[in-house]
Amino acid sequence: MRTPIVAGNWKMFKTIAEAKQFAEAVKQQEEVEGVEQVVCAPFTALPALAEALQGTGIALGAQNMHFEEQGAFTGEISPLMLKELGVKYVIIGHSERRQYFHETDESVNKKTRAALKHGLRPIVCVGESLEEREAGETAAVVGKQTKAALAGADTAQLADVVIAYEPIWAIGTGKSSTAADANETIAVIRRVIAEDFGEAAASVVRIQYGGSVKPDNIASFMAEPDIDGALVGGASLTADSFRGLVLGA
Ligand code: PEP
Repeated sequence: MRTPIVAGNWKMFKTIAEAKQFAEAVKQQEEVEGVEQVVCAPFTALPALAEALQGTGIALGAQNMHFEEQGAFTGEISPLMLKELGVKYVIIGHSERRQYFHETDESVNKKTRAALKHGLRPIVCVGESLEEREAGETAAVVGKQTKAALAGADTAQLADVVIAYEPIWAIGTGKSSTAADANETIAVIRRVIAEDFGEAAASVVRIQYGGSVKPDNIASFMAEPDIDGALVGGASLTADSFRGLVLGA
């Protein structure tokens, strides 16, 4: 049994004060059991959130990291620095980072392996563009991204890996994939993992759908057999909406 996982990706939203307000609002809510909850916040808000989220059942996540432990990499943050803050999850290779910050399958692989080496759980993002989808290339694109991201990982580490299937055309657009289409692509991802690591390892990897998920549509995705949760941007920004996602998961 794979525990469902709902992760919020706050992107470049929320000051420290706003992040604390979110945590305060969450503390007024009753805890929800059976769903793993993660908030991936901007680096600046992580220390305050590490404290403010204590006792809420929400784990701390980052949105990116460098693959080296330290070095002359101005502006970057290392896995050790995230670990020290109590970060548990880190988003790797979000399509916005691939598109605007030139991340490649190679850097995604280095970061994924670095995260696993340091006991951080990577949420590895894969997904096709609209052009690729219309050309019928979805399975090939996400299959290649998945294989590249996980290349060289230890089979035993796969239980710590989360994959987020996020069709680029569905992110922040209000246009989500149908649940059935998302499930079909996610099943392809699981099959590709099984090819490289075996059925048993593939069966424990959690695979989320992401792309315009909201409290009122998350249940349809969660009803699909291969979808284990959601990575959510816009609808993760308020405590009420985040709770709606968790209750629907
Ligand atoms: C995301 O940022 O990963 C995402 C899926 O965004 P949204 O939920 O806003 O589409």
